[in-house]
Amino acid sequence: MKDTAKHQGLRNKLAASLREKGITDERVLDAIRRIPRHLFLESSFEDYAYQDKPFPIGAGQTISQPYTVAFQTQLLEVKKDDKILEIGTGSGYQTAVLVALGAKVYTIERQNELFKKTSLLLPKMGIKPKHMSFGDGYKGLPNYAPFDSIIVTAGAPDIPNALMAQLKIGGRLVIPVGEDVQVMTLLIRKNEKQFEKHELGNFRFVPLLENKN
Ligand code: SAH
Repeated sequence: MKDTAKHQGLRNKLAASLREKGITDERVLDAIRRIPRHLFLESSFEDYAYQDKPFPIGAGQTISQPYTVAFQTQLLEVKKDDKILEIGTGSGYQTAVLVALGAKVYTIERQNELFKKTSLLLPKMGIKPKHMSFGDGYKGLPNYAPFDSIIVTAGAPDIPNALMAQLKIGGRLVIPVGEDVQVMTLLIRKNEKQFEKHELGNFRFVPLLENKN
């Protein structure tokens, strides 16, 4: 698949529609305009790639809806060179958005098929996360901690303690929490012990799975 002027036109429209839906961070909108989402999908979805919808990516998983990607990314308030941990690499689209914002991205995926596919795809597209890992994101990546921010892209039944522990003071953790429907939750670490919590509306994600293979 190629990236054409037609795709660019569709991306511009998508970014404009996300702005109408309330995304205000121009850097996030710019990343949406730059990243060829159709290349993260099977070719049969090419015509739909710039609709604001999730799509299947194999292994029973989905690429998140662009609005959700933009909403979560905006909450992270990414600064250049921020060290960010992503749980749930999936298609790699969210990873690509974070890399486009200048972040050093550490990402974990527990589905081997997706891990392998995305580990090949991203470098082919010239997108370089700092580290891609196959494993259980519930545990985070203690060897690389602490992180400026952490983003979880699957619905978590609760907020894993390991992730809270791996956040820098002042750092932001964005995680959808809940079983059937998830509440987008932002935790800001105030000091060693205290986190400020914000709940920012309902979303639907595939589940964050713990200790299952
Ligand atoms: N960020 C992805 C979203 C993929 S859906 C994208 O833009 O495409 C969520 C992903 O989280 C799935 O690929 C799923 O396999 C993965 N996942 C679920 N539980 C996980 C866990 N405990 N550790 C790491 N990844 C997990």
